[in-house]
Amino acid sequence: MIGEFHTPSRSGWIEVVSGVMFSGKSEELMRRVRRSLIAKRRVQVFKSHLDARYAGNHLVASHDGRTIEAVPVDTAEQISHALLPDTQVVGVDEAQFLDAGIVDLATMLAGRGVRVILAGTDTDFRGEPFGPMPQLLAVAEVVDKLHAICVLCGNPASRNQRLIEGRPARYDSPTIMVGGQESYEARCRGCHSVPRKDEDQLQLQALRG
Ligand code: ADP
Ligand code: ZN
Repeated sequence: MIGEFHTPSRSGWIEVVSGVMFSGKSEELMRRVRRSLIAKRRVQVFKSHLDARYAGNHLVASHDGRTIEAVPVDTAEQISHALLPDTQVVGVDEAQFLDAGIVDLATMLAGRGVRVILAGTDTDFRGEPFGPMPQLLAVAEVVDKLHAICVLCGNPASRNQRLIEGRPARYDSPTIMVGGQESYEARCRGCHSVPRKDEDQLQLQALRG
């Protein structure tokens, strides 16, 4: 099922694990990292600082007493500075929050023979492409799109539902909210709701007759 790429050992490549929140992207990224440790590769893992869950949910992979913990970063440049020259596998979680520089960095690393594994949510709460994910998906050799389970109907979920005080967030709310007053649910396309201002007005007009 989930593609794990096999390629001659001297060439690098880019893998993207995309999908909605709760679809198991972090689990899949860490599964691949753990297997790289088993293969005795030199691995570094990074994770965007912006993930609100970071404090309570450290990404850790371990094997034979070797433990890898994701290093929090804000920018692609910080990853670039932290990279060691002999690293063979680079994992990045929450890639959607990173700047466009992550595309060039991943491309450069793959060109140098590094296996780059990026996990990220490909669409924002509106269901629209998120940050650098479209470019990453385009340049990757291998792409997996995972699904969660829709919390309303039980079908495969492909959308991030943002809720503010329990109600669907409007289309014009910011792409990234800081402060954490919002919450998210995994939903399918049919159950996903993003009210727009113009829709409210149309509904009002309809009610007024
Ligand atoms: P992601 O990185 O894609 O946000 P995680 O790897 O952090 O996902 O979490 C995946 C886990 O979340 C699943 O293994 C499951 O236990 C749990 N989970 C919670 N809500 C859901 C849901 N609606 N659908 C599927 N899994 C869910
Ligand atoms: Zn649904």
